[in-house]
Amino acid sequence: MGRTELRLGELSIEGFSRAGDETWFRVHPPGLAFDTGRGARELGGARDVFLTHGHLDHALGVPYVLSQRSQHENGDTRIVCPMQTVEPLAALIAAAERLEATTYRYDILGVQPGDRIEAAKNMTLEAFPVDHVVPGVGYHLIRHKRRLRAEYRDTPEVDLAAMRERGIDHSETTEEIALSYCGDTGPAVFDLEPRIFTSRVLLIECTFLDARQRAHGDRYKHLHLEDFEPRQDQFQNSAIVFHHLSRRHSEAALRTAVDQRLPALAGRVHLVVGST
Ligand SMILES: [Zn+2]
Ligand SMILES: [Zn+2]
Repeated sequence: MGRTELRLGELSIEGFSRAGDETWFRVHPPGLAFDTGRGARELGGARDVFLTHGHLDHALGVPYVLSQRSQHENGDTRIVCPMQTVEPLAALIAAAERLEATTYRYDILGVQPGDRIEAAKNMTLEAFPVDHVVPGVGYHLIRHKRRLRAEYRDTPEVDLAAMRERGIDHSETTEEIALSYCGDTGPAVFDLEPRIFTSRVLLIECTFLDARQRAHGDRYKHLHLEDFEPRQDQFQNSAIVFHHLSRRHSEAALRTAVDQRLPALAGRVHLVVGST
């Protein structure tokens, strides 16, 4: 089973994802990790790890990543996770430190929906609410840009330069959601956080395909392909990355289902499902 690499606009996304097996992503820039799977070597360079929830297919790798980073003296690591996950995750890390008779250099930051964390000079992460069976959050990767204020758009450059010399600032900061990552979630996420429809790149799970598994999606709070069908017209994203496919489905079955049942999205859908 192999990892996948995607280049989507200015972002490079590397990852592996299968429901119940493991899910992790590495996103450049800024070089952060979203979830850790069961411990992926590819995450050793990530200073920041943004964890969506505590299920072990996403979180078990946290101590492994910290262990790898301390062996290679990669410096401090920031682990960001839902507020309710901090205490049990700290206990898991502490147990790993005892097993290895060492200490890792890390901080854990608990977040709630709406909290923001700076990840790079022009990039901020914002937590948003999701709908899962354990405490969870998704994350928006927000890019900040400077641009000329509207009232100066027709001003000749020579005049702008003269004003700059007098200390007048013509610019303003704007924000765009470069990427949204939902982690594991049921369909309530579409109402809880409609901004996911507007991000340039949307990483969203699609665990189940068949009518037989309709109840599974409801019970375990995962998305079913059916959840996308009535909402196809709402997705304004340039790219949509489906991941977290159940092991009972093949990548080819997901691709066929997307082509047949989501015609408005099919041309923008990429798959990270761990080839089988
Ligand atoms: Zn999962
Ligand atoms: Zn989960």
